[in-house]
Amino acid sequence: MMALNIPKNKTPIAEQEPEIRNHNFKEVVLGYTLEEAITESNRCLQCLTHPCVAGCPVSIDIPGFILSLRKNDLGESIKILKSYNNLPAVCGRVCPQESQCEGKCTVGLMKDHEPVAIGKLERFVADWAASHEEIEESPQLVESETKGKVAVIGAGPSGLTVAADLAKRGYKVKIFEALHEPGGVLIYGIPEFRLPKTIVKREIRAIEELGVELEKDVVVGKTLTPEELKDEYDAIYIGTGAGTPRFMNIPGTNLNGVYSASEFLTRINLMHAYEFPKYDTPIRIGKRVVVVGAGNVAMDGSRSALRLGAEKSMIIYRRSEKEMPARIEEYHHAMEEGIEFHWLTNPIEYIGDENGNVKSVRCLKMELGEPDASGRRRPVPIEGSEFTIEADTVIEAIGQTSNKVLLSAFPELKLNKRGYIEANSETSATSVEGVYAGGDIVTGAATVILAMGAGKKSAQAIDEYLGSKKKA
Ligand code: FAD
Ligand code: SF4
Ligand code: SF4
Repeated sequence: MMALNIPKNKTPIAEQEPEIRNHNFKEVVLGYTLEEAITESNRCLQCLTHPCVAGCPVSIDIPGFILSLRKNDLGESIKILKSYNNLPAVCGRVCPQESQCEGKCTVGLMKDHEPVAIGKLERFVADWAASHEEIEESPQLVESETKGKVAVIGAGPSGLTVAADLAKRGYKVKIFEALHEPGGVLIYGIPEFRLPKTIVKREIRAIEELGVELEKDVVVGKTLTPEELKDEYDAIYIGTGAGTPRFMNIPGTNLNGVYSASEFLTRINLMHAYEFPKYDTPIRIGKRVVVVGAGNVAMDGSRSALRLGAEKSMIIYRRSEKEMPARIEEYHHAMEEGIEFHWLTNPIEYIGDENGNVKSVRCLKMELGEPDASGRRRPVPIEGSEFTIEADTVIEAIGQTSNKVLLSAFPELKLNKRGYIEANSETSATSVEGVYAGGDIVTGAATVILAMGAGKKSAQAIDEYLGSKKKA
């Protein structure tokens, strides 16, 4: 039987060598060749029950796109992918596949076997399609405003998905984005070496070609009111994300050289600080960098610092390696590149020099106690364990929360106890009729594909809502 003969491990993929890539911002993973992709596609068992699909928040027909790839019918393969996912090259790169599609793959459940590399195959097909644009179907053009007008607030993965899906259904959609570039975290948060900006821009261009209009530099709640949108549009979708940083709020936070990860990464990604002075935005690094936190944001911050010339880039985390929230692939890449990890360590003060620049971090050692509300064991300080780490730069990456600009201008919107918009988990409907919300602004900081999944469900719900309104 095929299952007995398949290679145990995923087909290896080319990557830049760690000691080279930790000095440049070029993409780390180089991608499969056609031959390698077909070899990997042959590891898929084409299971009748295809559990991988249930693991994908947008339910991609995974065996279908892999089978077409195996037959070297890449045109069909991209068609299948695009019918479920408007950002396949992005998802193939940044989805936490190990806990989603690949986490459910039958092959991965077999003794000593790795799952099929679904994400890497998705990325391969999407990249192939981008270099063979003539193969892709020409986008469906929206002729008129016949089905209704929808405003989308925020051009992150959630807003882009709902916009694309509604445009495909014949709606006139306009996205309002606060920044001067669309893409949300894909543009301002995730660094170039994990997700090249040309790829994000390419996939956004394809969405605009569906007829979606995009207006940048509009902060809804400031430069445009929700009332103005309600007057002009039949429905509104809010996908404003969770971009406001949380802080440790410990003494010394105001010292020079202490950044939030949001500011640090936005300067690098959106404002191109890594290309200073070609671009106007500088960034100060120094020799020793401490990053607080161990999620994807912390990995991105510490690896960016290394690329910007830090001699030592350290991660300190109050729990242990086991509780670390980062994607496993990013953790491995960070270790290979020389990031130093200090587990069970919590900062309690940043200490400055006479000029107000941070010079060290006072820390406490922790141990793990009983599980807390998150189900993870609670870190407990060890008395008398204080010690100091020298640092020229500190980056706090301990999480984000909702941005209040729009929320305070829209008081009718019901929020939950954590300050996020309350929305129906199936339809994304909010407490205000005709207003929908999804992505991080509803769930709190989560993942690209969950934000996209919410956008997909919401497009369906908005279509049904406007359809029934028309009939009434
Ligand atoms: P966002 O991506 O935050 O987009 C919201 C958009 O709304 C932004 O463009 C913002 O400017 C705009 N906006 C906000 N307020 C207004 C307003 N009032 N008016 C107009 N526009 C507004 N997830 C993964 O799956 N894999 C990863 O590897 C990963 N790495 C990450 C690394 C970093 C550094 C960060 C910060 C997050 C990472 N995530 C990752 C999480 C993921 O990026 C988010 O869950 C996802 O982007 C949420 O999508 P969204 O559309 O809800 O919001
Ligand atoms: Fe897996 Fe993400 Fe692709 Fe879905 S979109 S198949 S979860 S990589
Ligand atoms: Fe293929 Fe794995 Fe999905 Fe089965 S579960 S169809 S082996 S990708």
